[in-house]
Amino acid sequence: MPAVPIKDRWWQTKPKFDPSENWCTLWADQTPLNAAWHGMESLNDHYKNDAVNLAALAPHDPYVQDLLGSCPICDMWDRSAVSKPVDIPLMPTNKQGEVSPNLFSKLWMSHVWGTPVPMMHRKLFDAVSDDFDDDILVGEVYVLGGDRIPDLVSLLDRRHVPRRRKYAKGLFRHPSMSEFMPCHHCGRVLPAKCNPEYLLAGELESAAPRLLWGHVLLGPKTRRRCDFENKDKWPQLRIDEVPVLETPADPIPTPYPESWDELEASFAAIGLQLPARRISVNRTERPGPWLSQRIERLGKQLCHVPVAHDKYWTMVFFVRYRALFEKKVAERVDHWSDEELYDFVKDSQEFSRGLTSYFPV
Ligand SMILES: [Zn+2]
Repeated sequence: MPAVPIKDRWWQTKPKFDPSENWCTLWADQTPLNAAWHGMESLNDHYKNDAVNLAALAPHDPYVQDLLGSCPICDMWDRSAVSKPVDIPLMPTNKQGEVSPNLFSKLWMSHVWGTPVPMMHRKLFDAVSDDFDDDILVGEVYVLGGDRIPDLVSLLDRRHVPRRRKYAKGLFRHPSMSEFMPCHHCGRVLPAKCNPEYLLAGELESAAPRLLWGHVLLGPKTRRRCDFENKDKWPQLRIDEVPVLETPADPIPTPYPESWDELEASFAAIGLQLPARRISVNRTERPGPWLSQRIERLGKQLCHVPVAHDKYWTMVFFVRYRALFEKKVAERVDHWSDEELYDFVKDSQEFSRGLTSYFPV
């Protein structure tokens, strides 16, 4: 398939934006709860004890899954079906059966490990909640077998913010590690673990803040009103800029597809075939219902790979994806079979010892 000429693309590689319209994400810089979410192995000793206590949150995942009806593999949930907030129980961390206030005194915002329910400190909540819309549901945080923790609220956002990333710099920068793939259980497009690199103006339905895992996303008006740049008022609050673009900077359709089937259908509707995305499944699991049906329809060859081959097949997918839009790449790889491309990617990775993640054109 020859590459789509630049004039026919529906997106831009170098988009323009107006910095005064920037949105931003707010998060807490290194707090114990955040540290627990990032994984205990990587923690320094300072945080280790707190994190071990907080790891006890993990057993509550099924509780949240039940309330949200979320997928057991990817934790994604059906937003429209949720009408009530989710209260979060925390395990006591001291002998008095409380959660030590040191753990959340500067915790502005945190993601509860393994669930899509973030927690926010009451002070930040009081500052921004005037701008919330009805799709943000506010619940409580309490100590398991004990009292409510008045300094924390649990939040749930029924709207979804697409985690858009720019073409070469985001989505395709480290293709061997990319998680841009379907969940094998439910077929949803897995959300990137990072926040959006940019927002698409047409996908912002209002100026109301939105919630991401462990971060709150705010528009320029809320940001100015709350004076978040004031470090005395908001110690250890981190602000990341998120530009708003008029046209997409990545070749993912609009509206951002929720499922891989929708993604493929959107490409088919404009006469393009999305390359095969072969995925691997943990050794301890079987392919979930979505992947099993797909294997039945398309054959195992195009759907499933052993874990050991996953990295290079992921790169094959991204090289083929680039070949849809980059003439040089298309000319180089279009006449190769997937197996030949796999061998080339594997050889070039082994030759460079994995130092170059980009396909050498
Ligand atoms: Zn899933």
